[in-house]
Amino acid sequence: MLETAERFTDHEGEPAVQQYLLLVGGLRTLARAEHAPNLILDAFLLRSLAVNGYAPSFDDCARCGMPGPNRFFSVASGGVVCGDCRVPGSVVPSAEAVELLSALLTGDWETADASQARHVREGSGLVSAYLHWHLERGLRSLRYVEK
Ligand SMILES: [Zn+2]
Repeated sequence: MLETAERFTDHEGEPAVQQYLLLVGGLRTLARAEHAPNLILDAFLLRSLAVNGYAPSFDDCARCGMPGPNRFFSVASGGVVCGDCRVPGSVVPSAEAVELLSALLTGDWETADASQARHVREGSGLVSAYLHWHLERGLRSLRYVEK
């Protein structure tokens, strides 16, 4: 979480209040053990992407806006895409994993906490791929989380 916050705020002299508040909120939630740590991390990463202008779409097609649910997911396109907009490299995640990520982004903890472990793992993989794409190079510390 700290490394991601640092990477998103490396413009000297520019205040990053939203990113700061997200980080404080995430660390507090982690310290109080209010949710599973990997869910707290993924929620933080998704919201960090959002406040920095890279919010992924989990419903409407990220390219043409076709109303969801859409079944393909493309990191390069910005989230889920429809059958017409899918590009090589698109994946077809489970509907449950996409629903989980949408819940984490919007703060629907009831849905997120009820997710099955395999959907949590699948969702984490998508978040990691998406974050890496937008930060251009991988975050070193994420490898330890993935283990
Ligand atoms: Zn489309």
